[in-house]
Amino acid sequence: MKKSLRKLVFATNNKHKLAEVLPLIQDHFQLLSLSDIGCFDEIEEPFETLKENAFAKARFVYNHFQLDCFADDTGLEIDALDGRPGVFSARYAGENCSFSDNVNKVLSEMKGKTHRTARFRTVIALIIDGAEFSFEGLVEGEIRDQASIGIQGFGYDPIFRPQGYTLTFAELPLEEKNKISHRAMASTKLIQFLNSIN
Ligand code: IMP
Repeated sequence: MKKSLRKLVFATNNKHKLAEVLPLIQDHFQLLSLSDIGCFDEIEEPFETLKENAFAKARFVYNHFQLDCFADDTGLEIDALDGRPGVFSARYAGENCSFSDNVNKVLSEMKGKTHRTARFRTVIALIIDGAEFSFEGLVEGEIRDQASIGIQGFGYDPIFRPQGYTLTFAELPLEEKNKISHRAMASTKLIQFLNSIN
């Protein structure tokens, strides 16, 4: 009989993040989202680092639901903007802004700039049996001068072209993004760690 998989909460309801992480983790764990566990609270991310924000989300779930869980926090770091939007990526264009508001703000700040290098950085915070661990992934690339028309991905994907590719993350199939992305890299480290302690 097939062994049942251990439950692990991914502290998000972002369907894009869930779709990216699920294929990487589903053979190892039963992945649960926040809505799967009945958590509908808005979890604050008030800190100045990705790591602190990721742990804020993971600790919220662990403390309220006593379930092993991990959370990610991601930032787009643009060199010509001194690392912005960075940890402020979600609300760069203001409270309640949309993905396209954020993209448009970056495009206007990058207008006329020739130095366009940037990276996505993800930190995953894991709490398992009360112990805390973190894993980081990043992908280098460049900011395009206009949004691509691809419909894959989310957030800043239409303006981010990973190094070595001609297409943006919004134009690449999910399987392709998942081979090289910041989140895939951090998730792979997470899975390797979980397998090593299992
Ligand atoms: P979060 O706080 O980890 O949800 O991420 C902050 C913001 O970064 C999100 O609202 C998205 O706009 C953006 N973001 C996160 N991950 C990605 C990604 O994989 N591609 C593009 N944008 C992303």
